[in-house]
Amino acid sequence: MSVIHILAAELELTSPAAVAAPEAHTVGSILRPGLPLARDGWGNPYIPGSSLAGSLRHQAPQERQEALFGDVRKDPEESAAGGTSETTVTASAVRVLGTRITSPRAPLSRRRRTAVDRHRAAARANTLHERELLPPGTELTLWLRIDTAQRESPLLDEVIGLLSTWRPRIGGGRTTGYGRAELIRVRHRVIDLATTDGLRHWLTCGGPELVDKHATTVYHRAQVRGGAPDEPHLFGRPLEFAIADALHVGSGTVSDRSARRTGVARILRDHEDTPVVPGSSWKGVLRGRVELILRSVGIGDVCASVADEQSGGCGACDICVAFGWTEQSGVSADDVTAETVGARGKLLFADSPVREGTVRVRNHVAIDRVFGGARDEALFSEETVENGQLTLHLRHDGEVPALVRAALVLALGDLADGSAGIGGGTTRGYGTLTAEPATAEWLATERAQAVETLRAHRAEAGSASIPSPAKATEEVSA
Ligand SMILES: [Zn+2]
Repeated sequence: MSVIHILAAELELTSPAAVAAPEAHTVGSILRPGLPLARDGWGNPYIPGSSLAGSLRHQAPQERQEALFGDVRKDPEESAAGGTSETTVTASAVRVLGTRITSPRAPLSRRRRTAVDRHRAAARANTLHERELLPPGTELTLWLRIDTAQRESPLLDEVIGLLSTWRPRIGGGRTTGYGRAELIRVRHRVIDLATTDGLRHWLTCGGPELVDKHATTVYHRAQVRGGAPDEPHLFGRPLEFAIADALHVGSGTVSDRSARRTGVARILRDHEDTPVVPGSSWKGVLRGRVELILRSVGIGDVCASVADEQSGGCGACDICVAFGWTEQSGVSADDVTAETVGARGKLLFADSPVREGTVRVRNHVAIDRVFGGARDEALFSEETVENGQLTLHLRHDGEVPALVRAALVLALGDLADGSAGIGGGTTRGYGTLTAEPATAEWLATERAQAVETLRAHRAEAGSASIPSPAKATEEVSA
């Protein structure tokens, strides 16, 4: 081991991202977001190397993960037999030295979200939470170290190859459009300890200076067309919608309270100040609608994810598989199973900025039921986007159950014909979308197939679960 390779990978966030650190909360932090981002000892935002190491490991083929990134595992046979199982530990050949956010400090953005009660169709109590995020465009560097015996090494080539096809994903909220990043370039510095220069460099430099002007660029996104491919679109295409009436996805903040009689409820905007429909809105609306559709057509083995108090999803039905589910509360340590710990969904929703949208303020007032006029002190104002187009990028990483795919087509059809709306105030005419011609045409052609899939499944499930009278009689008489 006389040659040290340092790789400096520069990344750029292409969506909001953060590694949340709820453990950072102390007694006095009531006013801070529920999910603050991780910070270093100096209070600067920070992305732990382990987050990126995990993402890079995920990119490697299954059979090479242990050789490259190490592993800790118990011998499954012995633990199944009830004996004291031996733990095998393999050290990682790729060492993650650390990360650093290199772009000048951009203002952090905050996102609030809540869950919607499936019965009342309104926000559920105690589910509002706020997340702190790094804005898109934030740049960071990740340093990796690999030790080899020779200057040339297949291991190094493999890691560089892995990096050049890497789709970095950071932190939580991946299925609602957070945490996407892109590799800008990778620089490689060889430090050969057998040479005087190498040894001097190793002994006199440290930290980021190890990758100096002698480093070579082994990857640059400008030279690789397109870079690593994104996850595929679920329907092979993005879907185009236009706003039919007015859209209000609130940011949970109120502006100029002083200038007006009441404050104006602000809509959510992205880092470029463009109104945006967040991935979480798309995901929530479509999940709720898919649940409704499957239950309405009699496919009853789907759970209502936020209907009852205790659970965040059953973890076993097709909807949970496609959309993910959260950890079930109140489970004792002995009863922990794969279903109770929660899992990430297969469907990936992204933020949709509204193009060419006009923002205006609408005023509303409550009517006094006795006098019939406007009620005192009940005026409220909110920003709405009155027109414009938006694109839904619905991607997937992993197999999505056919049933959910079919129900999604119908749910999107409901959005396109106005049976379902997105955002706030859908019962007073807000949030109606129409499909752009190409998408409308596609929805119309897919609809027949989707209905057929649901029908076939119902016929199958019906024959399996409802016992035939003859069989039931047999059981009873036996
Ligand atoms: Zn479920």
